[in-house]
Amino acid sequence: MARKSRKHNNQGPLLRHKSTLTQVAAYVRLSLEDRSKKGNSIETQQHIISSYIHEHPDLELYDTYIDSGVSGTTFERPNFQRMLQDAKSQKIHCVIVKDLSRLGRDVIDTGYYAEEVFPRLGLRLISIGDNYDSSVDNGVITLPFINLVNEAYVIDISRKTKSQTRQAMQDGIYVGGRPPYGYMRAPNNHRKLIVDTPAADTVRQIFAYAMDGASTSEIARKLNALKIPLPSAQKSRIATNSFRAWHATAVRKILDNEIYLGHLVQGKTTGRLKRQRTLANEWIRVYDTHEAIVSSDVFQAVQALKQNRSKRSPAISYSTNIYKGKIYCAHCGNRLERTKQRDVYIFRCTTNRITPDFCVGICVSEDVIASALAEQLLRLRDDLSRQLEAPQKKEDPLPELRFIDMELHHLQNLFLTLYENLITGVIDQADYLELKRGYQVKEEEYRQRATSLHRLLDKEKETNKHRQESLQILNAFADTAVLTSKHIDRFVCRLIVFRNGKIHVDLMI
Ligand SMILES: [Zn+2]
Repeated sequence: MARKSRKHNNQGPLLRHKSTLTQVAAYVRLSLEDRSKKGNSIETQQHIISSYIHEHPDLELYDTYIDSGVSGTTFERPNFQRMLQDAKSQKIHCVIVKDLSRLGRDVIDTGYYAEEVFPRLGLRLISIGDNYDSSVDNGVITLPFINLVNEAYVIDISRKTKSQTRQAMQDGIYVGGRPPYGYMRAPNNHRKLIVDTPAADTVRQIFAYAMDGASTSEIARKLNALKIPLPSAQKSRIATNSFRAWHATAVRKILDNEIYLGHLVQGKTTGRLKRQRTLANEWIRVYDTHEAIVSSDVFQAVQALKQNRSKRSPAISYSTNIYKGKIYCAHCGNRLERTKQRDVYIFRCTTNRITPDFCVGICVSEDVIASALAEQLLRLRDDLSRQLEAPQKKEDPLPELRFIDMELHHLQNLFLTLYENLITGVIDQADYLELKRGYQVKEEEYRQRATSLHRLLDKEKETNKHRQESLQILNAFADTAVLTSKHIDRFVCRLIVFRNGKIHVDLMI
């Protein structure tokens, strides 16, 4: 057995541990790339390695060597160097890693240590994730294959994280961000909700007002009169100095939320970068996961009252509000509300109805908004057509990209030749490392330059296409002069209305 022979050959007075067990170095590395991924944290790696050692009675942990925040290509990994020193002085006989990519970033690096350095030092190498043990596999390692496996593993991890989140939801664990108003995280378990007493009293008060028949805006007014602070999550979309008073929407959200019954309804949105709402039948509802704030009787009664109220409201006769969510008050930052007065639609700031101190009040007719916007859109059309007719001369990045491609190809060949030279003894390790680092710096420079050129190229193409389409839409608008939601959605970021009648239009192209 490999272990036995090593024991006879190597155990000498230098050995600190007199143990007959194989002394193991646990090597743990956290690369910059790992920071954004789950499953490779230092703790995870350590845990996996110590479990492995625990399951193998012939192994004993000598020390753990941790390099964190260092790219796998850097050779000045201090703890990796320390580990090699300990191997040279026979303190350790075996290195265990979670997977081979811990040793180095690429095939050449990893291969260099696994196939050259470690055998020379008499080090046994175990890679748990790759199911590799040099004492069993005779040092034969098919690295390119294993690296492919590593990449597949990374993809697998992200899939696992997603399914773990859904599993947590099904187990009734709170996976959301800031807890809803009335609750907070338990101090000893951040995934459990407990009642936040003062806020919970307000929630009960809101339900009580609703039971008495108050509308959502009436409730908001009452809360503001009592100077009860608004849940901090409800920030105004513009004007950071805007007031933080209660408004109807915040009240409605609370009255609608089943969380106050002690139930968790999660998975209403999906996707990390771009949140999308899921269908109601995909929501994960778990009952009695935390303390309720309102009783089911009260909750049901309030829902029934709300339905009655909306039946009475004349909203059905209204035309569609194409400006929905885009018109703001310049004075308080609140969104303007649309109402109908005889045949005219009016936008008004309702803040001073609820909290008179906060806003002077604003009122503007939809026609005024429409003509201000139409004027801006026609100006935009003229600007666009001018820009598209006389495009600015820009440099073509294609020749440089072709050059970089050639250089990268050339560098790949250099890397391979270099490794061959090392193995056949043409150059020594020091030369190898120095030359290789030089090549890597060059390679990285080329790759970064190519990426930014590609990005530039894509962006230009996209911008041009988008502008052409915009111009077509605006030309059609100039013919008909009819504003539709298509125009608002595409071109209007927001409209800000001042008391003196001025309208500021924020357009997007
Ligand atoms: Zn206002």
